[in-house]
Amino acid sequence: MKKIIILSSGGDAPGMNAAIRASVRSALHNNIDVFGAINGFYGLIREEIIPLSNRDVGNIIQRGGTILKTGRCPEFREKSTRDQVRAFLKKHAIDGLLILGGDGSFRGATLLQHEGGPPIVGVPCTIDNDITGSDYTIGFDTARNTALDAIDKIRDTAFSLDRHFMIEVMGRSSGFLAVDVGIAGGAEYILTPEFPIKIEALCEKLKNKTSAKQGSIMVVAEADQPAHSIELAKQIKQKTGIDYRVCILGHIQRGGSPTVQDRVMASLMGAKAIEILLQKQSKMIAEKAGEIIAVDFPTPENATRYFNKAELLKINAVLCEV
Ligand code: ADP
Repeated sequence: MKKIIILSSGGDAPGMNAAIRASVRSALHNNIDVFGAINGFYGLIREEIIPLSNRDVGNIIQRGGTILKTGRCPEFREKSTRDQVRAFLKKHAIDGLLILGGDGSFRGATLLQHEGGPPIVGVPCTIDNDITGSDYTIGFDTARNTALDAIDKIRDTAFSLDRHFMIEVMGRSSGFLAVDVGIAGGAEYILTPEFPIKIEALCEKLKNKTSAKQGSIMVVAEADQPAHSIELAKQIKQKTGIDYRVCILGHIQRGGSPTVQDRVMASLMGAKAIEILLQKQSKMIAEKAGEIIAVDFPTPENATRYFNKAELLKINAVLCEV
């Protein structure tokens, strides 16, 4: 292993820079030359590659986003594009790739590797925490703290004006973010895609409980339909008369300085990724029961991890009884 390329791909996540810093410094420590591809897979297609030194990754551990920039690159789904990238990697004698991204990026990486590409190691980075094979993904803790901070602020106005608020958080098709943020924010209801509730049943519950309250918080997962809470609030108003003010937190959840947990996790995962690349293995770095390990990349059919702890929602319902 003499020369590797690092890139960040798909949605950005706070902690990506800490992972870049850790992997660059670990690689250089092992006498591997490191390059960064700009804008994810686009960097490999457009041959926008920069050398990375220890100095280049100084003073970035605390920054959100990614210094390498990221990208969504539909062209990479075409085999002809991946063939072009493989030829480019071969020409420049690139021995390994390190990809920071989510399940989509890993799907592309797996194809490239199976088609004859070099060893590829993936570091799971997404605020949604929804990648099969890892209990944790870089960015999740920062996102939940950002969302919680927003909810705490909204709660001040909910209390002062006796208002009900519906707060929509990210998470794609999984409810991890909604559940943690809902419990920590004292939300009366937490709606997740994994445990859907019919609008009629929800309205019945709201009529019995929420209408008696003077202010409350409902946390709603985006459930692959960003901004769907606007329609949900409208329907609740029509059916119950209860007026929910909607607040969609959106991309604010993606930004900001990474928390301690994200910086530590990114540092450990970034270093582990180089250890695995040195063994010329193609794996995803994962956290399992507190250990940082290497696992097989998720298969396309089961790449998404879903929230499955219904008991947490039941406990939360009890905690919000008044
Ligand atoms: P994430 O990695 O955060 O899940 P995306 O799903 O947007 O983000 O995927 C990031 C990039 O990975 C895509 O823009 C594309 O370049 C590549 N990719 C995703 N799915 C595939 C696929 N099935 N085949 C090849 N490349 C893919």
